[in-house]
Amino acid sequence: MDIHALQQIVHQTRDARRKQTIPKFSPADRDQLIHKHHPDYRVSAYRPIRFGPNANDKTVVELAALLEGDSPIAESIDLTPHFTTDVLVVGGGGAGCAAALHAHGTGAKVILATKLRLGDSNSVMAQGGMQISVAPEDSPVTHFLDTLKGGHMQNDHELLKVMVEDGPSIAKWLIELGVLFDRQADGNLHVKKGGGSSKPRLLTCSDYTGLEIMRVLKDEVLNQKIQLLEFCAAVELLSDDNGHCTGAIFKDLDNQRHVVVAAKSVILATGGIGRLHIQEVPHE
Ligand SMILES: Cc1cc2nc3c(=O)[nH]c(=O)nc-3n(C[C@H](O)[C@H](O)[C@H](O)COP(=O)(O)OP(=O)(O)OC[C@H]3O[C@@H](n4cnc5c(N)ncnc54)[C@H](O)[C@@H]3O)c2cc1C
Repeated sequence: MDIHALQQIVHQTRDARRKQTIPKFSPADRDQLIHKHHPDYRVSAYRPIRFGPNANDKTVVELAALLEGDSPIAESIDLTPHFTTDVLVVGGGGAGCAAALHAHGTGAKVILATKLRLGDSNSVMAQGGMQISVAPEDSPVTHFLDTLKGGHMQNDHELLKVMVEDGPSIAKWLIELGVLFDRQADGNLHVKKGGGSSKPRLLTCSDYTGLEIMRVLKDEVLNQKIQLLEFCAAVELLSDDNGHCTGAIFKDLDNQRHVVVAAKSVILATGGIGRLHIQEVPHE
């Protein structure tokens, strides 16, 4: 069928389709559907976390066991700090670099510690682009509503508000640092329409957006001479008697020694766990 015939059918049936009622699914219906049809779903794969800030939240059993497990540091180690700082940032991706630069900008002494090299991260792999309401016909409010809809209203509303409101100033900050977002012939930013958004709001750098953003953030961290601890994996957080975090212990992967950092504030920017494939393959 050619495209014009298809368009005609879409046009002719639009009113009828608008009047159709879409069956509403309750959360229970949705769970039942997932249990029945999802190839990976196993009830026994999940259990509640027993204690800690996420107590009673359900997660996969392997992660729950890891969170509740003993410290990976078996031997007793000297906790005299090798380094002392105002702000310790753990992670050298986009979030870590941005946090370190903002903290440094306030005059704080900052250490950024990361598992591999600065910039080795998921952030460099992001291709599709970054949704920010910068187009004249767009607004943070529209961005908020689109994202609520996309998140089936499960979003953290306060966090979402901050993110959509701060987005335009973050884009400006990145451009001022030197990120080369795609432009139109007239020099204005070229914003594309991404999935789930009612307005064009996707800022891109061809298909290597994350790599370009990280090129600039990494450079700026080096330019600002922020102290780096590379090839240092955080293996434990330190806390005082009131439970406040006071620093972290790292495993220096070069020489297998522990490095202790004392800090007034610790920012964890270690990314997510989406692709860690923490679950065993079921034997069936
Ligand atoms: C292939 C791909 C494509 C994507 N495309 C898009 C896209 O188009 N648009 C979009 O918005 N998002 C996209 N994403 C998601 C996006 O890249 C991430 O959400 C974002 O980059 C996360 O940034 P981050 O700084 O929080 O984490 P990361 O970039 O993952 O950085 C985490 C850092 O923490 C370090 N680290 C981890 N554990 C430790 C430890 N114990 N001690 C010390 N350091 C540690 C890591 O080495 C790394 O440097 C994509 C992701 C991937 C993988």
